[in-house]
Amino acid sequence: THTRTPLMAGNWKLNLNHQEAVVLVQKLAWTLSDKRHDYAKAEVAVLPPFTDIRSVQTLVDGDRLSIKYGAQDVSPHESGAYTGEVSAAMLAKLGCSYVVVGHSERRQYHAETDALVAEKATAALKHGLTPIICVGEGLEVRQAGGHVDHCTVQVTGSLAGLTAEQVAGSVLAYEPVWAIGTGEVATPEDAQEVCAELRACVRSTHGDDVGDTVRILYGGSVKATNVAALMAQPDVDGALVGGASLQVDEFAAICRFY
Ligand code: PEP
Repeated sequence: THTRTPLMAGNWKLNLNHQEAVVLVQKLAWTLSDKRHDYAKAEVAVLPPFTDIRSVQTLVDGDRLSIKYGAQDVSPHESGAYTGEVSAAMLAKLGCSYVVVGHSERRQYHAETDALVAEKATAALKHGLTPIICVGEGLEVRQAGGHVDHCTVQVTGSLAGLTAEQVAGSVLAYEPVWAIGTGEVATPEDAQEVCAELRACVRSTHGDDVGDTVRILYGGSVKATNVAALMAQPDVDGALVGGASLQVDEFAAICRFY
């Protein structure tokens, strides 16, 4: 864990217009700049809706904020007749560092497959964006004990065609579907089990160095009160935070997890 820089990423989902986005990022930057606390250990990123990104860029650039930002989805295509899509080149031009691919809500409501997720990750990497590639099992799979197999199959498919270097430059996120937005966080041991298996999977497919380098986040009902125990796990390198990322004090407290 110690050589991998922790990443705390706030997934705003379908919330906040561009004015509200600016207010939140300003407040977040103000809170994180409080010199009484050492916030420097974690990299902090926000993932707003597409329509907010330009405003966040202007604020971050203008005030030289160290907060990074990105998008919640990206097109697998470069350009052309794909109505409604946003390309990786467009996101890179807006200064995005990250883009979420394969979030369970996209897999569920937009029928995204592992193969599509791999295409999106490839498009992101081609333009210098770091994909945050999400995997995670539903409740039935968990109850049947199939969670490790489910997640390793998903990660293998979602990394298909990526080079070792590309995988090393990606972020993985283990987000059990039953823990997302439910208030029912995975135990630190459950999070560790799957994150360790995902790392072992990457080590076997792309080499030990890549497995040791790739950052693996946990996501699902992370709060200030449960983040420390999750972060104490050796294979948990950060958190993907949904609901709690909309509350400045809560998210800032998560960013100061130690
Ligand atoms: C998410 O959707 O990525 C997430 C982790 O949501 P929440 O923190 O609200 O469970």
